[in-house]
This record gives sequence, structure tokens and C-alpha cells, in this order.
Amino acid sequence: MFPHERHTPQHRRFRSGDGALTPRGPVSDDQNSNQEPRVPTPAPASGSPAHNWAGNTVFGARRVLRPGSVEELQQVVASTDRVRALGSGHSFNRVADTAGDLVRLDGLPPAVDVDEESSTVTVGAGMRYGEVAGVLHEAGYALANLASLPHISVAGCCATATHGSGDSEKCLAAAVTSVEVVGADGELSLLSRVNEPEHFPGAVVALGALGIVTRLTLRVEPAFDVSQHIYTGVPLTEVAAHFDEIFGCAYSVSAFTDYRSGEARVWVKRRVTERDGSVRPPGWEGRTPADAAHHPIPGIPATHCTEQLGVPGPWYERLPHFRPDFTPSNGEELQSELLLPRAAAAEALAELRALGDRIAPVLQISEMRTVAADDLWLSPAWERDCVAFHFTWVKDSQAVLPVVAAIEEKLLPLGARPHWGKLTAMEPERIAGLYERADDFRRLVLQRDPGRVFANDFVDRVFALG
Ligand SMILES: Cc1cc2nc3c(=O)[nH]c(=O)nc-3n(C[C@H](O)[C@H](O)[C@H](O)COP(=O)(O)OP(=O)(O)OC[C@H]3O[C@@H](n4cnc5c(N)ncnc54)[C@H](O)[C@@H]3O)c2cc1C
Repeated sequence: MFPHERHTPQHRRFRSGDGALTPRGPVSDDQNSNQEPRVPTPAPASGSPAHNWAGNTVFGARRVLRPGSVEELQQVVASTDRVRALGSGHSFNRVADTAGDLVRLDGLPPAVDVDEESSTVTVGAGMRYGEVAGVLHEAGYALANLASLPHISVAGCCATATHGSGDSEKCLAAAVTSVEVVGADGELSLLSRVNEPEHFPGAVVALGALGIVTRLTLRVEPAFDVSQHIYTGVPLTEVAAHFDEIFGCAYSVSAFTDYRSGEARVWVKRRVTERDGSVRPPGWEGRTPADAAHHPIPGIPATHCTEQLGVPGPWYERLPHFRPDFTPSNGEELQSELLLPRAAAAEALAELRALGDRIAPVLQISEMRTVAADDLWLSPAWERDCVAFHFTWVKDSQAVLPVVAAIEEKLLPLGARPHWGKLTAMEPERIAGLYERADDFRRLVLQRDPGRVFANDFVDRVFALG
């Protein structure tokens, strides 16, 4: 089990519940209680999702449960032989699946507790980034970065090393300073960088294998504004030749391409206060930004996109590409992504362009981003700055997977690691070999969950745990 540590807040906190922002007192002892749960096992969730967001994975769970309290959750875990957390179901593979009970955490009371003294926020694990961000902003704080979509759960994103873009921006899990977890015996404990410095880097991007996270504490910074401009018609040859200048020109930069046109559309997201306007690569940013809003996929109206045209706005309404009040699509897509050492960007782009005739017919859009190095054992950016090549595919696994395999054949020799939450054509058994700390993670799983309550076929195959 993770060692227990009681929160002892000495400072002002804020909490969201019904959306109102009110000062709150210390976390009650009840919330961290390790007493025997006295609550009945929750009934199966009505309208339980039997499949993921994209609908390409049907879960094998015998039940989907939605506990209404941490105590109920503890009872579920203590009384079952096999259980696993489900976030918002946005992964495209079987990483969230189980043959036992699947537990949704969106029935737990929502909480956004800002700790001004330590510049952190503690959030309910079932919450989505979009739900957290507005409350945080009202309290005067921001998260450093966000993924393209705000509808994804915080715990699920952190469990899979989900990332945004930015030369100095690490994956979202790198902001985590502690996690509250229900372990294999149903006990609740807090694991932090302070109380478990040796194992903490292995326990944040943990693929659901170490327990059910109930709350996460994330580093925050003062709220900031961002403006975004889109540059269209940037030749891919120019993206490759000026990669560092282009991706280094602002706080967060993404380049979208269809591998058909030979061109990219470049999303440039600036912190309004930053002086990044000084870096203007000749022949690229000297271009005029678009004077109309664009969707990443050419031809689709930008209605669901966050505001562009350089209009400044709060960080959480600019860093994601899509607005929190709209769902940009209804799962009519598949995704895969490979993260490579940043130095391989130009070579990888050349390989992808050479495969363009195979990629383009089944591609909706592809995105290049940068991710800064971190120390999380299972992060694809572990101890290396990365370039990420993301692909949004048409929803046709049979047509898409051979192309994913062809891409992986070319990019794996360049040091590619697949995103934990997306499709890969690799045999799971090969994936552990891409991670230097895989054996350490395997040992950690066996130490924390010797009875394999949180076992999952995909993770077992990757780490030879079966
Ligand atoms: C439209 C779309 C856009 C996306 N954009 C991005 C992007 O910009 N960048 C990027 O990197 N990825 C992106 N992704 C991928 C996505 O962020 C990951 O798949 C992420 O894991 C999804 O979070 P989730 O809550 O849906 O997790 P799920 O798919 O539900 O679960 C993923 C894993 O997290 C574990 N987990 C979930 N909750 C808990 C918990 N409380 N305790 C312990 N383990 C838990 C599950 O057991 C599972 O192993 C996108 C996906 C979609 C569909």
C-alpha cells in the first residue's frame, strides 16, 4: 500500500460544487478516512457506457459501477476480485478495459480546491479538464497546458501521459504533485513526490494499474491570457527546415497537415504577456496570419474551435483547439500517435511524406506538437524532449491499422513510442522494450497489487504481468 498521509491545510482554499466559488475549510477527516466502509455497494450505472467514446472498443466488464462517494468506491474495491477505473472513455484501445468491474468516478462529489500557499489545486479524479478550468481561472490560477479537447478526464489524461504542445511544456501528468488512491485492499492513501520520491515518478502515468485515483493535486500558476493565430499554406519542407524556429516561436505551437497538399496550417498560441514576438523566422512567420477562423480539418467550419484571429482570452479558452461548450465530433474517428526524440523531427517528417500516398486516403488530419522532457517512467517524453506525430483517422480500423503499421515500421527505428491511449499496430509485448524504466514499473505493480486486482489484458501483455 501507499503510505498514508493526512492533509493538513493551513491556508485558504476554494471549492467548486454547483459552480459557485466559495472559501472552504480544511478537508474533513471523513474524506481521508481509512475506516471500514459502512455504505452499500453501488448499483450498476444506468446507461453505463459499454464502449469507449469512439465506439471501436467494447468493454468486457461484467458491470459498470458509479459510486457516489469515496467510501462506496473503497467498498467496491475491497469486495471484488477484479476492478478498474474508467475515465471519460476517450482512449482508443483496451487500456481501460477489465473482465471485472469497471468504475466510473463521475459520481463522486466534484471538487476544485486551490491551495494558494503551495500553488496547487486538488481536483476530483472523475472531473474533466473543462470543468476544472473555469473554476480555477475564477480563483486567479491556471494550469500550464491542456490537451486539444477539454472534455477528457483529469485522471484518465494523467494515467496515459496525455499532452498538449509547447517546447517548454511537459505532459499534463508532469503537473501532478500527489495522487490519492484506493489501493488493492480498498484502503485510501496519498502518494506524493515528498512521501515517496523514489516511486512517485512511476505512479502517475500508471495506466490504471496501481489503483483507483480519487483526487489529484496539480501545480498551478497565476492565470494568464493567450491569443492564437493560424498560418495557412506553410510548406512542409519549411516546417522541416525551420522546425526549431517554428515550434519555438510561441508558448504552444501545432502544425496540422493532411500529407496530401504538402502544406501545413500552423496554430501559434502566445501568452499575451510573453515577448515571443521577437523570434520571427524569415520566410515563415513573416507571413500574414489568416484573417478568418479555421478548423484543423480543412473544409469544416470553425464553429467549435476556440477563438482565433489573435483575440486574447483566458488560457483555458485558447490552449485547447476545441471549445468546452461544444463536443467537436461524436467519435467518428480513430487516433494514433507516436512520440519521438525532438531531434528526429525532420527525418520523421520526411518518412511520413514518403508514405503520404498511403496515409492521405484514410486520414482526416495529422498534427505535429512538441513535448518537453519529464521524469515519469512511462511517459513517452521520459528524459527526452519530444516531437509528437498525431493522426486522426477515418473510423475504419481495417483500413487504418495497416497504415499505422507502415508508419510505425518507419518511425520506431527513430525512437518512436506510441501514445498509451491511442491505436498502435505493435504487439503489446514489444512496447515495454521502448521504456528504460519498464522493469521498475513492473516491480511497482507487483509490489502494490500482488493479487492483481487492477489487472488488465493490455497492460499485462505489455509488462509481462499475466
Ligand atoms: C477527441 C480526442 C482528443 C484527444 N486529444 C488528445 C490530446 O490533445 N493529447 C493527447 O495526448 N491525447 C489526446 N487524446 C487521448 C486521450 O487524452 C487519452 O486517451 C486519455 O487517456 C483519455 O482520458 P479518459 O479519461 O477518457 O481515460 P480513459 O480512456 O477512460 O482511461 C484511460 C486510462 O486511464 C485510467 N484511468 C482513468 N481514470 C482513472 C482513475 N481515476 N484512476 C486510475 N486510473 C484511471 C484507465 O484505467 C485507463 O487505463 C484525445 C482523445 C480524443 C478522443
